Amino acid sequence: MADEVKPSYEFANARELLQSFSPLGSIGTSAGGNPIWGKRLDGGSGERVLFIGGVHGNETEGIAATKGFFDEFIVNATPRRGAREVFFIPVLNPDGLLNFSRHNGNRVDLNRNMPTADWKANEPGEKYYSGPAAGSEPETQVLLQVLNDFNPQFIVSLHSWKPMFNVNGPAHEYARRMHAELPYEITEDIGYPTPGSLGTYWGWEKQIPTITFEIERGLPLDKVYGIVRGALLAVC
Ligand SMILES: [Zn+2]
Repeated sequence: MADEVKPSYEFANARELLQSFSPLGSIGTSAGGNPIWGKRLDGGSGERVLFIGGVHGNETEGIAATKGFFDEFIVNATPRRGAREVFFIPVLNPDGLLNFSRHNGNRVDLNRNMPTADWKANEPGEKYYSGPAAGSEPETQVLLQVLNDFNPQFIVSLHSWKPMFNVNGPAHEYARRMHAELPYEITEDIGYPTPGSLGTYWGWEKQIPTITFEIERGLPLDKVYGIVRGALLAVC
């Protein structure tokens, strides 16, 4: 299959799925007026890990993975092994989940809207539309608030594309731990610049280890969590 990337499956029940995360409580509201669910999980007192899914709402594999984690550790209340303190945001972009879209309700690519030094304006309607201003979007503001308040020592953000652990900042040790569980390629360079991305902002500029976990796109959604679970639990 070389360079081909299959399309993601769409959730049949996106609204129900989004609502299923409501026990976490709301940490904000999206551009389209939908709740952003998130919570600092009980448990560890150790390393602070920010675990995010659904920055791009059409990359459903990442949301299937956060749903699996949610069901195992919150619904079924399985004790987590690690002593890590996890802040969990299963779907940062609920508008995108509901519309099966990369973008939020303002058609902004949230992974181009962070206030990085190299943030660049572009045109509405573009795939990578970065918004009217750096940090303009409510979802970005929610995330910046969490970053400031929780002050994570490591960030993992779930996407889907060609399978890889994309390392941003000093995250190689984390990548190796994940790679030991799932033999995805570890890379620093995804082949094009990403101004306004979380990885550029928090990883490269703030030097907080950040991994953009690109789950293999096109996996059956009910298989995803079983495939990525080990890699997630190696760091969450
Ligand atoms: Zn993505």
